[in-house]
Amino acid sequence: MKQSYGVSPIGFVRSCFKEKFAIPRQPQLAPAARGVMELVPPFDQGGAVQGLEQVSHVWLLFLFHEALEEKPRLKVRPPRLGGNQTMGVFATRATHRPNGIGQSVVKLERVEPGRLWLSGIDLLDGTPVLDIKPYVPYADIVVEASNDMAAAAPELIPVYWDESALLQARQHALRLSEPLVELIEQCLTQDPRPAYQVPAPERRYGAQFWDLDVRWHYPQTGQIRVLEVVPAAV
Ligand code: SAM
Repeated sequence: MKQSYGVSPIGFVRSCFKEKFAIPRQPQLAPAARGVMELVPPFDQGGAVQGLEQVSHVWLLFLFHEALEEKPRLKVRPPRLGGNQTMGVFATRATHRPNGIGQSVVKLERVEPGRLWLSGIDLLDGTPVLDIKPYVPYADIVVEASNDMAAAAPELIPVYWDESALLQARQHALRLSEPLVELIEQCLTQDPRPAYQVPAPERRYGAQFWDLDVRWHYPQTGQIRVLEVVPAAV
C-alpha cells in the first residue's frame, strides 16, 4: 500500500485575519470576516470556477500552515473545553492534527476568473487551499446530527466601545470599504481569550484585523471594551 501522497495548494487566501488570535473558532460565526481566495496557475484561467456563480457557499479544504507539526498528536486540549481537558484529536476540530487539514463552509460572495470573494471565513491570511467544493444543501445538511461536546455556538459576551475607538473604526471602515465595526464586534463577542485565563481589568489584549491593531480589555468578567483601532506597526 502506498504510504504517502503529495498534495499542493490550488490557491491562497488573503484574509482580514493577520494573526491566529481572535479568529472565530468556526466559519459563519463572523459574517463580516471577508477575504479573497486567489487561485494559482493553471486554476486561475476561469475554466476551473465556471459554474460556481450558481453556488452560495463552498467547502474549503485547506492547510493549517501555521500549526503544522512533525509528530502527530493523538490527544489535544480543545479551547472549547476550557483548555484543561484532553480529547482524541479526531473528536475535535483542533488545528494541530495529522496532515494539518482544515475544512470550512464559507459564503461565496463573487466569482471572477482566478478569484473567489469570500465571507464568514475563519482562515488566517496566507492559508493554502487544497480544494474547493460546492456546498450541496440536500446532502450536507444533517438535520438529526448531534455533538454533545459542541452542542451550541459559543456563548456571546457584550462588546462596548470607547467613543474614540468607534470613531477610529468607522474611519478605517470607510478607507478599507469593509464592515470593520461589525467584524470587530462579531469576533470579540465570542471572547477570544483562552477560557482558563482570568482577565484582569488592566490587562490589554490585541489582535490585527486587516492593517489595523485592535486593542481591548475586560472591565468586568464577561464584558469587552474596545479601546483603540490604530494602524498596525510595520
Ligand atoms: N473550520 C475549520 C475546521 O473545522 O477544520 C477550522 C477550525 S479551527 C478550530 C479554527 C482556528 O484555526 C481559528 O480560530 C484560527 O486560530 C486557526 N487557523 C485558521 N487558519 C489557520 C492556519 N492557516 N494555520 C493555523 N491556524 C489557523
